[in-house]
Amino acid sequence: MSKGPEPLSAPPGETPTDPLAHIAGALFRPMGADGVYARTALYELVAERLERYITGQRDAQAEILRFPPVMSRQQLEKSGYLKNFPNLLGCVCALRGSEAAIHAVVDRHGAGEDWTGSLTASDLVLSPAACYPVYPMVAERGRIPSGGLLFDVEADVFRHEPSRNLDRLQSFRMREFVRIGSPQEIQDFREGWMTRASALAAELGLPCSLEVASDPFFGRVGQVIAVSQRQQALKFELLIPYHTEATPTACMSFNDHREHFSQLWAIHDERGKLAHTGCVAFGIDRLTVALFAVHGLDLEKWPPPTRLALAM
Ligand code: 5GP
Ligand code: ZN
Repeated sequence: MSKGPEPLSAPPGETPTDPLAHIAGALFRPMGADGVYARTALYELVAERLERYITGQRDAQAEILRFPPVMSRQQLEKSGYLKNFPNLLGCVCALRGSEAAIHAVVDRHGAGEDWTGSLTASDLVLSPAACYPVYPMVAERGRIPSGGLLFDVEADVFRHEPSRNLDRLQSFRMREFVRIGSPQEIQDFREGWMTRASALAAELGLPCSLEVASDPFFGRVGQVIAVSQRQQALKFELLIPYHTEATPTACMSFNDHREHFSQLWAIHDERGKLAHTGCVAFGIDRLTVALFAVHGLDLEKWPPPTRLALAM
């Protein structure tokens, strides 16, 4: 049986937390947890066209990989994520033990008691970004060839940041182009993409600015790392305001990891020197919401250049 649209609005008596509430009902359906939504056909149509548009910008040399939403816990720990962003990490847990032991846990739930204390961590985590699995994979292959490597990757990622704002999801799609090569190759790749990204946003009719940024490193020590990241301009973001008074939302990021991943995973060039790595991340869901927020729900009324770019 089909149920009518159920808008994502604040409970009666509460003020809406998101000024985009008027479009939310046409794009998302609630799934019982903040920041986790089912996506409507209208939304998916635009998200798919956007993905195709990004594919059209891809270098022909890129190796394409699509990742599941989970990855090896050991690999993510080694990547430094647990140290830097422990508050955002989601770990896959499961019940272990004999049939009787597992029945006992299920019965506790049946009796209205907490059962989750019996869960133990598995060897999987929810991927917090699309590019983490690339580096150990490249390291396994041996030294990188002259001219370096380029990947086009995507994953459904998770970050534990429950929120009712439409631009702060716990589960969202991240597409990335990942470059591995010499310091100069990474610099050229990142600068080239920063220039192209502004042109891309203009073609899509999205107002934007490009700003130096930092990752949300955890705790006091994390703040120091974030300041240093900013000072070295290792991260830039493409920001799009969803409406005139809105604080702009980061919809793409341009990251220079320097030797961070190549040192951890021992990624060397053909002469044995440590490689550098960098990535350009497209937040598919943030960009899709941006398109609707700026152009409205009626696709027919979107600006002709935007419709053309998205082959609509
Ligand atoms: P980064 O790794 O730079 O933090 O994230 C890469 C991209 O993922 C961001 O530029 C943004 O587009 C997207 N992103 C990051 N956090 C969120 C979030 O909470 N919700 C959504 N929908 N996208 C996000
Ligand atoms: Zn990345």
